[in-house]
Amino acid sequence: MRFVFLFISIVFVIFVHAQQAKKLPIIDMHLHALHAEDQGPAPMSIGAPFAHWGCHDPKQPYMQTVMQALKKNEWTSHPLTSPLTDSALMVQTIAVLNQYNVYGVTSGEPHLVRRWKAAAPKRIINAVSWYYYDVQRVGLTVDSLQQLFQSGEFKVFGELGLQYEGISLSDSIVEPFLAMAEKLDIPVGVHVGPGPLGVIYMGANNYRARLHSATQLEEALVRHPKLRVYAMHAGWPMLDDMLATLYAHPQLYVDLGIIAYAVPKKEFYHYLERMVNAGFEKRILFGSDNMVWPESIGVAIDNINNAPFLSPSQKRDILFNNAARFLRLSKEQIQQMHE
Ligand SMILES: [Zn+2]
Repeated sequence: MRFVFLFISIVFVIFVHAQQAKKLPIIDMHLHALHAEDQGPAPMSIGAPFAHWGCHDPKQPYMQTVMQALKKNEWTSHPLTSPLTDSALMVQTIAVLNQYNVYGVTSGEPHLVRRWKAAAPKRIINAVSWYYYDVQRVGLTVDSLQQLFQSGEFKVFGELGLQYEGISLSDSIVEPFLAMAEKLDIPVGVHVGPGPLGVIYMGANNYRARLHSATQLEEALVRHPKLRVYAMHAGWPMLDDMLATLYAHPQLYVDLGIIAYAVPKKEFYHYLERMVNAGFEKRILFGSDNMVWPESIGVAIDNINNAPFLSPSQKRDILFNNAARFLRLSKEQIQQMHE
């Protein structure tokens, strides 16, 4: 009897070990390679999630309101704190990617993305973050972008931060960039939805709430029917506009981005459940929007895995299958990610 018990115990231990070792792969469509200070002086805090968005008395500068609330964790009971240095940020992020078996579409300035790629060649899929003012600022013109993509080194054009500049994807000044991406068949990830709370009053003077609406994408989508586009942050909180745009443009995908960990959880679940209920489960991509808080990736993944309204196959679609299809990964690439 004792031997039988021992045998069962050993089999159980081997089984549990095998389960842990074979964590299914996840594709994070929205990871950032940033400097530690890019979201403000480190250590910075964020709510994962925020419980509420506080309030602001305009007699004091808005920045003061935010910094005070973040420092004292007034808007959250689940704060995350950012690492102090660039290398700590990179090392801790890669450790989380390994822990959860995540492959990250990682955007940033090309030199920084290259540094991350060198540190974790298997985990990092290179993407270029881009603002319209980068044309002047760092010379990311149509031609130089084209070179980055044509060489095969960079796979995704995004995150496009046009909303922060008050520019819609459908504005004519963006046209040559979209034509280039369509010609080269490079997927485009565009920010549609929330930036930091009240970001207009923290320097992004031209950011506008109306550009949360995914309907801003329409003319660009119609002009470039072969372009693969995903709306990052799923146009939160303009749900009806997002659903209408998904319905009208079957090639469009969304990623969950910051709403997967930072907005009040009940609201995130409501938003995600509505998109699934409306029938768009095959076009929802997981994206952590990790900026300088590596732990946010795990929180976002756990939120998907714990969503009571998702079936196991819907979770796999969101965490992996939809992205593999959208990115047109080959059978071999998918196989390798499962090894
Ligand atoms: Zn974004």
